[in-house]
Amino acid sequence: MSASASSGTGTAGTELAVVLHAARDIRVQQLSRAELGPDQVRVALEATGLCGSDLHYYADMRNGPNVVTAPLVLGHEGAGRVVEVGPGVAPELVGQRVAIEPAMVCGRCPMCRAGRYNLCLHGTCLGSPPTHGTLRQSVVMPRANVHPVRRLDAGTAALVEPLAVGTWAVRRARLGLGDRVLITGAGPIGQLAAAAARLAGVSWIGMVDTAPARLASADGLADEYFDSVPTDGGAGGGVDALLECSGAPEVLADLGALRAGARIALVGIPARRPVPEGFLIMAQRYEYDVLGCFRYGPGAFHAAAELADSGRLDLRRLITASYPLAEAGTALHTALTDRSQLKTLVLSAP
Ligand SMILES: [Zn+2]
Ligand SMILES: [Zn+2]
Repeated sequence: MSASASSGTGTAGTELAVVLHAARDIRVQQLSRAELGPDQVRVALEATGLCGSDLHYYADMRNGPNVVTAPLVLGHEGAGRVVEVGPGVAPELVGQRVAIEPAMVCGRCPMCRAGRYNLCLHGTCLGSPPTHGTLRQSVVMPRANVHPVRRLDAGTAALVEPLAVGTWAVRRARLGLGDRVLITGAGPIGQLAAAAARLAGVSWIGMVDTAPARLASADGLADEYFDSVPTDGGAGGGVDALLECSGAPEVLADLGALRAGARIALVGIPARRPVPEGFLIMAQRYEYDVLGCFRYGPGAFHAAAELADSGRLDLRRLITASYPLAEAGTALHTALTDRSQLKTLVLSAP
């Protein structure tokens, strides 16, 4: 049987896509479909979760150092069904639901060869310029970037991507049995990191957020909740690790709750504000291990897909709104302006 069984192989064709043209200028328009090559699969997209980076691009045309200079399809938290496979890919994959790992790597640079592919020197990522993302009807990906799931529906399969951020933070912070962990930021990433930390066997989770609604939405995930960073025995003392998921540098002002030698994983993209000067003094004196976390490294996405598919996590609790593809502009605007939203989904297929 031909590896490309379904119709349309190699044909251009067009489909609906959500294109960012300028700040807050979103247009749903026809775009040509990508060609399918060797070792690639075509995924008919079902759902995309909106993420902080999508909202940054939507609001400002930039996210950290990345700037949108040409019309761009947003979205990188995608899931769908494989509808077509290129040469070299097992045809059994057709029909399977997959979570899409959006970062594509070269496999040859020194970082890839060192096994640290999330730091690839030539990497690209769906929804980051110049690479179109998943707010459209289909996407072509390397086979290695799609992770089959069996139990998840499309919406929760789209949450595998942010869960992978959480699993990578847990690994970077070397969380294990009996650890006490403080998590700053109770948004989707903080909540998914908490769920992953719990499965890793931590004995205590403290969760911090300045927004009462966010803390309330994390109910059941932590052991204690704080509206500001605890600085002493208020956290029970002896915190082994901090997962910083808020992006607010002020969080690092007073880390008196940490034990000496604690690990600090920086997960949230830091706002461009000064780091409190006391932080470096304390980090030096008490030998904190400060660990950057960029997306997810080797094995973390696979682990997230397996965990999610095992049913041992409640991912659905994060989904607060869903919109059809044609209303993606409204979805982005609402996600940006309504802070009570956790995870907004855009559905590419009904
Ligand atoms: Zn994301
Ligand atoms: Zn590379």
